[in-house]
Amino acid sequence: MGVRASCHCGAVVFEVAHAPTDVNECLCSICRRYGALWAYYRPGEVRFGGEGGSDTYVWGDRQLAFHRCRTCGCMTHWSSVDPAHDRMGVNVRLMSPEMLRAATIRQSQGPE
Ligand SMILES: [Zn+2]
Repeated sequence: MGVRASCHCGAVVFEVAHAPTDVNECLCSICRRYGALWAYYRPGEVRFGGEGGSDTYVWGDRQLAFHRCRTCGCMTHWSSVDPAHDRMGVNVRLMSPEMLRAATIRQSQGPE
């Protein structure tokens, strides 16, 4: 049984196989504004469901697309614009509070 997460309205849901142990609070110009806490997975490890769509935001060197629920606006995940890049980030704030309490939160400094 995986770990489930959903945006506030439930239109975007996803599931990962393993609970995150390390969570990253990225302090770059976009992540600190979103207030997201990231856990990183390979795209094949994250299963998406729900009926809602996402809007995306791409900025800077245009390598990452930030996805937010089209209905409630929650930042759900980022994905790489380049499909060959085998990494994505999901917002642990969409999981249960227990997942955040159990994880170690680290900080990283990204680009301004
Ligand atoms: Zn939503």
